[in-house]
Amino acid sequence: MTEADHNPGGPGPLELSESEMTSLVNAAMVRITGLLATVADQPLDGSLEVSPEFIRGLREPLPESPEDPEALLDHLFQELVPRNLNPISPGFMGYIPGGGLFHAAAADLISNSVNRYLGVTSVSPALNQLERNVIQWFCQILGLPEGAGGFLTTGGSLANLSALVAARVARFGDDDFSSGVIYLSDQAHNCVEKSARIAGFSTRAMRTLPSDGNFRLCPDKLRRAIQQDRETGLTPFLVTASAGTTNTGAVDPLEELADLARSENLWFHVDAAYGGFFCLTERGKRAMAGIERADSVALDPHKTLFLPYGTGALLVRAPDTLRRAHSSTADYLPAMQDDPDLLDFCELSPELTRPFRGLRVWLPMKMHGAGVFRHYLDEKLDLARQVEQAVAENPALELLAEAELSVVAFAVTDRGQALQQRNRETEQLMGAINQGQKVKLTGTLLHGVFAIRVAIVVFRTHRDRIEVLLREIQRALGDTGLARPDQAAPTLDSG
Ligand SMILES: *Cc1c(COP(=O)(O)O)cnc(C)c1O
Repeated sequence: MTEADHNPGGPGPLELSESEMTSLVNAAMVRITGLLATVADQPLDGSLEVSPEFIRGLREPLPESPEDPEALLDHLFQELVPRNLNPISPGFMGYIPGGGLFHAAAADLISNSVNRYLGVTSVSPALNQLERNVIQWFCQILGLPEGAGGFLTTGGSLANLSALVAARVARFGDDDFSSGVIYLSDQAHNCVEKSARIAGFSTRAMRTLPSDGNFRLCPDKLRRAIQQDRETGLTPFLVTASAGTTNTGAVDPLEELADLARSENLWFHVDAAYGGFFCLTERGKRAMAGIERADSVALDPHKTLFLPYGTGALLVRAPDTLRRAHSSTADYLPAMQDDPDLLDFCELSPELTRPFRGLRVWLPMKMHGAGVFRHYLDEKLDLARQVEQAVAENPALELLAEAELSVVAFAVTDRGQALQQRNRETEQLMGAINQGQKVKLTGTLLHGVFAIRVAIVVFRTHRDRIEVLLREIQRALGDTGLARPDQAAPTLDSG
């Protein structure tokens, strides 16, 4: 029988039977568990061997006839999944890593199967409250005051975008905002600048201030820039600070910036997409003291809460500011709430129809408790200290920034060679480290100096892989001739 001649009175092919559902999920599970069981041994970057011809060979016409799900999954898991960067590996320390707790995959299976509508609370009041509990936990982790709130979104970029729009509306309402000025450091994530453009600001509205030697935003420079802009008739209205920059994990001086923002009547936004969840730990809380004074904070549970991609959060001190920026009604929509204890996500955020993201966070948090996350994050901070120390003790290498959170940035030692030569050497060293496929690092430019970054965020990264990393660095130094082969390899116990 083909899919077209199913019984017209029956459920039809799209309504899978219980056994079809079970075998589909089982078929997926067998392959997922197979993959995860060997995740530590898989190459870090399967994209390296992919040719343009191979990609062209993957083009497909619209399918008109049914295919066997087992064969489809085999194609996916054998041909496609391995041919990518592998950000769930314990050796992945590039960019800001993912990780991807399996709990979230189970949560998505449930969310997508029950497919409740979370945009408007009157039609999903119970699950709405579950997602708001998650938001309240996040507010509590950061120490935001009573009454703070927010929403879950796709990631840090959209969280930053909504924060900028909320700040703009808070200051200008419906008025012309062409005199508005936004302040950020040269270490701010590029999505802040992108958000500002989407929010209607030209690059002329952006003041990108040079960061200090520790890659932090300097309050004195900010104060002077604000003063200058006021003198020329502009309207300073927003400062965005970083709580954990992508380049080095630097935390801007949040207390001082909060003071300055208050005295200058600026909206104080903190981009904590990478760093924010370290507030679960004592060290993180100390490093980010002052974050609780922000008007808005962007977070990325898909980074430092170890969730798979697709979950970000925006928290604000006063949810009404989000409502002013995003609220909109229509006759075809269910009624919105005016009860202050209830909340329609579509009133606070750009989305109307949205996935039920809350369960991805709720399930692992409830299953394990916050302490387990705190412990894992503390471990990442410890591992970064160990890498930092090993680099500091290696005469062939030079630390380029203090490792405040879990990113360590370094270069080959400055032996008086020209900057370009030094940058070339560091880049070669990074290539040689990655060559082994046991770890994957990426680089950046820090005030013109090429830096290798070690970003420890994957929950699977433990001490054993950091030892591998240090051995790989030493091997690569030998391979590139940047260190004498007789030089002792750095170990975690050195010093
Ligand atoms: C990753 C990151 C972002 C962007 O978040 P996405 O989830 O990639 O959209 C913004 N700011 C910082 C500091 C980041 O590390």
